[in-house]
Amino acid sequence: MVSCPVCQQKLKLSFTMLVGSIVVCPKCDTDLRITSREPDQLEAVPEAETHNANAKPESYA
Ligand SMILES: [Zn+2]
Repeated sequence: MVSCPVCQQKLKLSFTMLVGSIVVCPKCDTDLRITSREPDQLEAVPEAETHNANAKPESYA
């Protein structure tokens, strides 16, 4: 078990999730990156980073 670094919600990570995988906290909806397994550790992913892929293209001109 590991706690969400933002809201302290207890999370259980799947065995198939590796370091570097992103999970979403079901309570606070924060994107969390797995930084360690055994013991499990999570870090909140900066919003700017997670939204890069969905960023609207600004260069239509
Ligand atoms: Zn949370």
